[in-house]
Amino acid sequence: MSEILIFAEIEEGDLHSTAGELIAAGRKISDDTGDSVSVAIIGGNQDLGSKAIALGADKAYIANDNAISEGVADSYLAALHKICLEVEPNVVLSSKTPIGRAVGPRLAYRLGSGIAQDCMDVSADSGSGRVTATRPVYGGNAMAKFTFAEKNPQVIIMRLKAFESAEPDSGRSGDVVELNISLDESDLKTKLVETVKQESEGVRLEDASVIIGMGRGLGGPEPFSQLEDLAKVFNGAVGASRAVCDAGWLDHSYQIGLTGKTVTPDVYITVGISGASQHMAGMSGSKNIVAINRDEDSNMVQSSRFAVIEDYKKVIPALIEEIKNLG
Ligand code: FAD
Repeated sequence: MSEILIFAEIEEGDLHSTAGELIAAGRKISDDTGDSVSVAIIGGNQDLGSKAIALGADKAYIANDNAISEGVADSYLAALHKICLEVEPNVVLSSKTPIGRAVGPRLAYRLGSGIAQDCMDVSADSGSGRVTATRPVYGGNAMAKFTFAEKNPQVIIMRLKAFESAEPDSGRSGDVVELNISLDESDLKTKLVETVKQESEGVRLEDASVIIGMGRGLGGPEPFSQLEDLAKVFNGAVGASRAVCDAGWLDHSYQIGLTGKTVTPDVYITVGISGASQHMAGMSGSKNIVAINRDEDSNMVQSSRFAVIEDYKKVIPALIEEIKNLG
């Protein structure tokens, strides 16, 4: 049986949150092709293998070598390349994380196969096993479907949060296999000198269930503290449109959209954001959109579940007050 191989990254000793998302994408392909879903855990251990199986994998490969260095794409690439030569997967799935983006294209080049990047959905032909990957094109204004030429593996880089991870099921069974790989020093052209963690307070934007989106309609960086107050009331986080980040009002780590972060909160309250397609590309998975905007014809208002057509200066203080009163 052919395999769908997931490149599962590790973060602070645990599986990265994208591992479950990729396993869910792998399961969808497997439903069409019958291929099994395997996970490559490079620099990991048996425990992480069991976690991957609980998340829906059939098998976990654990590969270790002293030369594997957390955060260094070269070492993951070299290891994943060796695993692919041994396993000969039909498909390789990686995430659009900094490491996943660096490893995927180089892996496809080394194996002489094709790659589809920034994908939001996958399906497969049950007869041929060829995958169709869906990804935004023309700045998010259209979605295109790509298929692969005959050569395997079909390498696919999935956008973050494109799939929802399954709830772990500790009753699932699967194999955890230790692979013997050894990396060549010549494979490693870069080394990690230092890791500097960005200081951040409160909930991470990607994990927040309520997000307050700041747009150019606010006219400058000053209203940010008001939006932060509103976010705190919900134990949420503030995000922004690219216009806000390009103007230097907020750092680009706040940016939501095609060239920013993808978020899927329960509630996304946008303040002075028009709803350009490139912004929508990063937040259209929000379960409820609330728009605060002066323009009732704006795309954001038209796409929202609830809208307040008013100057934000009147709405935000009243909203904070009302929510505090409601407790
Ligand atoms: P505007 O479009 O200027 O909208 C401001 C809104 O505020 C308007 O709807 C207006 O009615 C409203 N408003 C004004 N004053 C008030 C007030 N007092 N009270 C209430 N409402 C008010 N954009 C992203 O966000 N993310 C991306 O990742 C991204 N990637 C891009 C990639 C490419 C290749 C390109 C070409 C563009 C990209 N953009 C992205 C930019 C995008 O096209 C828009 O320019 C941007 O999203 C606009 O931001 P905005 O909605 O904040 O500003």
